[in-house]
Amino acid sequence: MTVSVEGSLNPLSPVRPTLPPRLTGLAQLAHNLAWSWNRDARMLFKEIDDTLWQQLRHNPLRLLQLVSAERLAELAEDAQFCARYDRAMQWLAAERSDEHTWYARTFPELRGRPVAYFCAEFGIHNSVPIYSGGLGVLAGDHLKTASDLGVPLVAVGILYRNGYFDQHIRVDGWQEDSDARIDFRSVPLAPLPGRDGARHLVTVNTFGRDIHIRVWKMQVGRVPVYLLDSDLEENHPDDRPLLSKLYSGGPAMRLRQEWLLGVGGVRALRALGIAPAAWHANEGHAAFMMVERVRELCAEGVPYADAVKRVRNASVFTTHTPVPAGHDHFATNDVLRCAEGEATWSDMGIAQEDFARIGYHPESGSGVYHMTSASMRLSRRVNAVSRRHGIVTREMSRSMWNGRDAEQVPIGHVTNGVHLATWMANPIMKLLDEHLGTAWGHSNDPALWEQILTLDDEKLWFTHQRLKHTLMRRVREEARRAFAQGGLEATQLVGAGTLLDPHVLTIGFARRFATYKRADLIFRDVERLRALVTNSSRPVQIVFAGKAHPADNPGKQVLQNVYQFTRDPRFEGRVAFIEDYGMHLAHLLVQGVDLWLNLPRVPLEASGTSGMKAALNGVPQLSTIDGWWEEGYEGNNGWSIEPEVDSDEGSSTARRLYELLEQEVVPRYYDRDKSELPRRWLLMMKHAVRVAGQQFTARRMVEQYARGYYAPSILGDALPDDPPTA
Ligand SMILES: *Cc1c(COP(=O)(O)O)cnc(C)c1O
Repeated sequence: MTVSVEGSLNPLSPVRPTLPPRLTGLAQLAHNLAWSWNRDARMLFKEIDDTLWQQLRHNPLRLLQLVSAERLAELAEDAQFCARYDRAMQWLAAERSDEHTWYARTFPELRGRPVAYFCAEFGIHNSVPIYSGGLGVLAGDHLKTASDLGVPLVAVGILYRNGYFDQHIRVDGWQEDSDARIDFRSVPLAPLPGRDGARHLVTVNTFGRDIHIRVWKMQVGRVPVYLLDSDLEENHPDDRPLLSKLYSGGPAMRLRQEWLLGVGGVRALRALGIAPAAWHANEGHAAFMMVERVRELCAEGVPYADAVKRVRNASVFTTHTPVPAGHDHFATNDVLRCAEGEATWSDMGIAQEDFARIGYHPESGSGVYHMTSASMRLSRRVNAVSRRHGIVTREMSRSMWNGRDAEQVPIGHVTNGVHLATWMANPIMKLLDEHLGTAWGHSNDPALWEQILTLDDEKLWFTHQRLKHTLMRRVREEARRAFAQGGLEATQLVGAGTLLDPHVLTIGFARRFATYKRADLIFRDVERLRALVTNSSRPVQIVFAGKAHPADNPGKQVLQNVYQFTRDPRFEGRVAFIEDYGMHLAHLLVQGVDLWLNLPRVPLEASGTSGMKAALNGVPQLSTIDGWWEEGYEGNNGWSIEPEVDSDEGSSTARRLYELLEQEVVPRYYDRDKSELPRRWLLMMKHAVRVAGQQFTARRMVEQYARGYYAPSILGDALPDDPPTA
């Protein structure tokens, strides 16, 4: 498969016409999000104008629009800059072919047979705000890795024009949300024309009205991402904003979004002449993608039962959470009304009741349509996202297979992983280059990762301290800027982290403020925590970040509660909350704190990925044994807390947390030798990198999907199909 990079230039975001001839390729580079994980490309943009680059939060299109012609002319004469530019351009050129990739070598017969990947959100880069959190970032890491490995993925998602939201915390700690509107000049999007010059590419009927959908293309390395957009004049005014917001609006809006994603996504791929050989639904939001394919086959004359079988054989479904509220379900009647205009069940040649049964869950009865049940009925290969989550999901899904034993429920697991080149800090990668040679980034070989243990202590510590300084400097700069612009009151400055000290043991806690993640658990015993934080010789700092879902008031209350402590003088400015958690802030935090804290209520964390990102940067994790940590904890790469009994509501976890901090974490961190190095802490840092680098990268994850899910979906395998029976 060859990929045209030029094809993705966005006519709406003209890069200044003043790019010097020597550097014209910068425009192409900025238009393929692969720049975001290529070290030369990232450094190029930074070197153009470091200050502007920071201010724009690493947005190369905006940078090229704003930088002066004089500066560019100067760089065109700079031999070092041009050498780097040439390397980046060569790399981009190599990205046009998949000839020498892992996938091409491993599955030569499958080259050019696309795998469609549907997801409701994609977290690829901070500058494209069409993600809310873990699911989206995981999907983004999946695409980047598929690109690296040459897996011929084509991704389908939604272009949320109002993005996810920007977070602002009021003085009283309550979260306020404002739209993060997409600035079309600064996002590498290209609209794909429809037939006869129409703006829309496909049309989907929902609730009796036709919705015209425009499709935008975004290039992520070798992987094209097709994003659906309903904001067209051709549409009824009420329908135009249908796809404008991520995870908001009531169930009716969610249902219509998911219908458009599934049905519209399949039609978009057809209109573009793309014929996927396998289809992956990343979470149940995309279940209608399978329903539409069944309808297509039936409309061509294939009997319903055969169509279901064929769709199942080519479909992969990944489920992402054991939290019931995380599984979308709708009133069956609404789903019927939504689908009616497409004549879906008459095309299928089945009764309306049989159509409704696709989303039937035996525990909810026929009035409820479950997207997870629908996905399980129409996918032969179903997986959870960690070993423990696999066990929990099989148990939860027993009733779908008539109550058989959990071990007999045909659901596997592929433990999540993170994209190394996105999440590991440049200086750490450089250290590993020097220590391991340059091939380390492509290896899952345990022997290679063992060698991390002989990394030079002083260099590692110095590098980590540098990243920590960077975090704290950025936090201060942000606070200063927000204060100057009136976004932050003077009384909020301390809570915004301006007093953080790079020499103090720093704990990071950043994730969605869902109540089960228990961000406030560490405050269970305020006095005990205060003693730790304000110890005069061995103090501790805590940095929080994260958004609560706009409709999640209990989550917002937890956030408010945490926020109050950041303003509490008893903590002496050592507890901070940094606003507007997103990929940009996530980078700074996972690279710049000393310890990553995670306290989910077991077993509600399906996997969790932020701890993997931290570990890749030598930041050990302290976590309850849940999600990936059940596999990742090896005794020397962090600390773990055993699950509590249900009735205890976190008190034993809190107690154990204090004990660990007092007796193990703090002493180890402040135990310095003559050269002021915390040798025992450094050893733990190295083990953190070793374990994450070898086992928890997206490379390992995508290889597992390719071998165990995509290839067998395309080539077939001998195992008998075992569909849900209830
Ligand atoms: C990695 C990441 C997450 C997921 O973190 P969890 O540990 O799974 O909660 C959420 N948001 C952002 C911005 C991330 O980068």
